[in-house]
Amino acid sequence: MAPVPSNLSAAEIVDKNIAENKVMIFSKSFCPFCHKVKDLFRRLNVEYVALELDLLDNGHEIQDVLIEKSGMRTVPNVYVNGEHVGGADKTFETHANGQLLPMINKSSHDYDYDLIVIGGGSGGLAASKEAANLGAKVAVCDFVKPTPQGTTWGLGGTCVNVGCIPKKLMHQAAIFGGDLKDSREFGWETPETVGHSWSKMVEAIQNHIGSLNWGYRVTLREKKVDYLNAYAVFTDPHTIKTVDRRGKEKILTADKFLVAVGGRPRYPDIPGVKEHCITSDDIFSLPHAPGKTLLVGASYIALECAGFLAGLGYDTTVMVRSILLRGFDQQMAEKVGAYMEKHGVKFIRGAVPTSVERIEEGSPGKLRVTASTTEGEEITDEYNTVVIAVGRDPCTQDLGLDAANVELAKSGKIVVGEGEQSSVPHIYAVGDVMEGGLELTPVAIQAGKLLARRLYGNGTLKTDYVNVPTTVFTPLEYGCCGLSEEKAIEKYGEDDIEVYHSNFQPLEFTVAHRPENDCYAKLICVRSQNERVVGFHVLGTHAGEITQGFSLGIKMGATKTDFNNLIGIHPTAAEVFTTMNITKRSGKDASVQGC
Ligand code: FAD
Ligand code: NDP
Repeated sequence: MAPVPSNLSAAEIVDKNIAENKVMIFSKSFCPFCHKVKDLFRRLNVEYVALELDLLDNGHEIQDVLIEKSGMRTVPNVYVNGEHVGGADKTFETHANGQLLPMINKSSHDYDYDLIVIGGGSGGLAASKEAANLGAKVAVCDFVKPTPQGTTWGLGGTCVNVGCIPKKLMHQAAIFGGDLKDSREFGWETPETVGHSWSKMVEAIQNHIGSLNWGYRVTLREKKVDYLNAYAVFTDPHTIKTVDRRGKEKILTADKFLVAVGGRPRYPDIPGVKEHCITSDDIFSLPHAPGKTLLVGASYIALECAGFLAGLGYDTTVMVRSILLRGFDQQMAEKVGAYMEKHGVKFIRGAVPTSVERIEEGSPGKLRVTASTTEGEEITDEYNTVVIAVGRDPCTQDLGLDAANVELAKSGKIVVGEGEQSSVPHIYAVGDVMEGGLELTPVAIQAGKLLARRLYGNGTLKTDYVNVPTTVFTPLEYGCCGLSEEKAIEKYGEDDIEVYHSNFQPLEFTVAHRPENDCYAKLICVRSQNERVVGFHVLGTHAGEITQGFSLGIKMGATKTDFNNLIGIHPTAAEVFTTMNITKRSGKDASVQGC
């Protein structure tokens, strides 16, 4: 309870408490409604001061003053930032309407905004909507610099426009091709050769993206977030200059900033590459069919694009500098590659391009690619399209971060401490631009949302970057959560690791006469920790869906016994995880055993 100076009158006590305390509750210690209101503030992590009138000698006088001041006879009588809220019902109603936290968190500064978010992608939009919900005055700046080929897009960032969404839809388009073939085995009398229209697919996907872009704009307007389609540059730690497409400049200030500018594809420094090649920023809106295509790079983006291009029937080659899917479990990565190879993707291993020249105009025209191998050999070939996928650079070069004194890592990403706070305490970073994060949409969204809740909603939860599930959407999808086998061995030692594994065949593959042992699952367990599962890996159809569910178990510390005790759903692919009993250590054959 607040101390009550004895030399003050009842009126002075009331005024002083209301003026000095963000949340002031005039209460009675026995009153159940007062308890409820105090509980609410505790749940919201909001500090309050309560004056228990029944425990004060001059409690009656204070209550008389309150009646005069607020017109309210009863307790609780709640004030927030000097403003009268009312009793219990009114306080709960104000909270239900989403007005209580904004009243509490009302800022006292002279800047234009409470929060300016730079970057309207996954992380930036999530943070700005949440902050506005919580009553903050928010602006979002989003601007897309055109690619060297001139491609540009709307609000929503990488995932929506040139990432997850068009990629997954093209992956699906390719899967339909395989399903069409399978369907004949199930009695469908589809013709042996079925054509596919690249431009029709692109148009349909781009229409969907257009509707998403529009939806984001509407949501921002509804939430009263100011949206500026303009490029932002820091001019000092509290000020940015924005420049729109027509060159119109604006100066804006804010109490806090969130940098969520993501990244853009990197180009190798070789002749012809920027003039003649495309990247993932261009491929999803390419107006003409790509034809014979070379993908340079061997990570997520290269393999996923190669997968759907081959699935759509294009002659597809991947040029690999070293290994497939660096950072992923290498046994799984090789299995991904082997399946792709079986399904028509060609791989050139141990080679990097050294030049690209145009040898024929047209859409797509023809390019000659020269490359050198690790043995020093020079190789050349001709392609209609070359897609560069050799990594992404954070968009921090032209952001004026030096004017704001924000520390950058060697990678160009923003160094953050606990809670995504940069070296400048009022500037935060989430998503792909944050050093040490994970370049995944749900990670950026979670980080943006939780940050906004901590800044404006009295939240305490921080983003947990451990055991984040992910899936590579190659022709056979590869889903994983936790450690690769290599990392598990490095962390716990080979003797302490037990790997359970199994090949499996989804039921639908049987009638379709697909090979028996292409799909594969493994669980990596720590023997000294009751076989806690620290690595979950699955290569198969719908691996993304399977991995999402099981990752909850991994996050909650599931052991191999928990997996054994789980009853499977039959007939599914995922049930393989409930029946796995062959360890790698045993050397026994892990191939399909039948139903
Ligand atoms: P972004 O979404 O990149 O948004 C940043 C925005 O800021 C952009 O619009 C940019 O133009 C803008 N901007 C930059 N600088 C400025 C400035 N100075 N002023 C104003 N605006 C600026 N993740 C998954 O989880 N699943 C997937 O399947 C998946 N597939 C992907 C496929 C591809 C081909 C790619 C490229 C990525 C994929 N990702 C996937 C990764 C995912 O897209 C990113 O992790 C996510 O979009 C990052 O969000 P972000 O908010 O950090 O940045
Ligand atoms: P990565 O940085 O993950 O990989 C870059 C790839 O390019 C590596 O194979 C690398 O080979 C190769 N490479 C680098 N430089 C050269 C060069 N000069 N010549 C030839 N090859 C080179 O990049 P991505 O662009 O594939 O992906 C970026 C991020 O986007 C990923 O980390 C991921 O988090 C996210 N993403 C997520 C997806 C999903 O969730 N499904 C899908 C797509 C992207 P080397 O191994 O030899 O270094």
